[in-house]
Amino acid sequence: MSNTLLKVSGLKKSFSIPDGMFGKKKTLKAVHDVSFMIPEGKTFSLVGESGCGKSTTGRLINRLIAPNQGEIWLDGDEISGKKESQLKTMRKKVQMIFQDPYASLNPRMKVRDIVAEPLAIHTKLSRAERYKQVAEILEVVGLSEYHANRYAHEFSGGQRQRIGIARALILKPRLIIADEPVSALDVSIQAQILNLLKDLQAEFNLTYLFISHDLSVVEHISDHIGVMYLGTIVESGPKEVIFSNPQHPYTKALLSSIPIPDPRLRRERIILQGDLPSPVNPPAGCRFHTRCPVATEACKGTEPALKKAGTDDHFVACHLVE
Ligand code: SF4
Repeated sequence: MSNTLLKVSGLKKSFSIPDGMFGKKKTLKAVHDVSFMIPEGKTFSLVGESGCGKSTTGRLINRLIAPNQGEIWLDGDEISGKKESQLKTMRKKVQMIFQDPYASLNPRMKVRDIVAEPLAIHTKLSRAERYKQVAEILEVVGLSEYHANRYAHEFSGGQRQRIGIARALILKPRLIIADEPVSALDVSIQAQILNLLKDLQAEFNLTYLFISHDLSVVEHISDHIGVMYLGTIVESGPKEVIFSNPQHPYTKALLSSIPIPDPRLRRERIILQGDLPSPVNPPAGCRFHTRCPVATEACKGTEPALKKAGTDDHFVACHLVE
């Protein structure tokens, strides 16, 4: 049994945003009572539509922003209430891989300086020692020392994401938060990057929080999946259970949109009506009831809690699931 590296409990985050003119404000509830844990060396994926709060959850765990409520335990250390000056150790343990490899790399810096920058910030290594480590990590991600002296714009999208991964790895982190790391890449390149992330996880015992809008992308890499809707997790479970026995109507709809590669097989597509409601004014009762194809009157009254559904690790928030 692996140790728990990350434990998140009752996490909440809201933002005060402008409400028209005259300086009025309204509250956007981005994350609403999110809890999960990730054992060391495993991958937990957060999946849901754009605007469901998954990226905000990643930023909370990386403490780029502070939660309003809830706890974040990293490697036995409670980090949710710490000030920036107390987060230096945590910053070395948690690194991010971003969605857009074009935007996340400084165009004015050579690759060796982009990748070496975290070492310059967090260690006392000499420049020569930093560059030696850069050369080694570039080899690990499938590039070479030859690439270190070039600028980011000289690379393809896949190569740029490899540079981003090298930068994330250079401090030997324990947890990597990968926020839509392949969604800006061509499908063939996506597979290469996902395979690379899998290989790196096996080699360095990395733990991943993988964030994606696409269930088909996380199938390959996940051990456990949490499906998010409007700031909250509506279903979570081992990958095999989520894919073979989804219980929440939203998870079923997401799965039904994944194409099946065999043309002889057909899957009935569930089309959800309408858009994701505004997190400024989420629906009362079950947050999904305005789009749920099987909603009942009762769904408008009470918000369903996450409860066990069958196997030990499978949880669903739906009044219709026993
Ligand atoms: Fe649909 Fe009701 Fe279940 Fe919510 S509680 S997912 S509205 S059936």
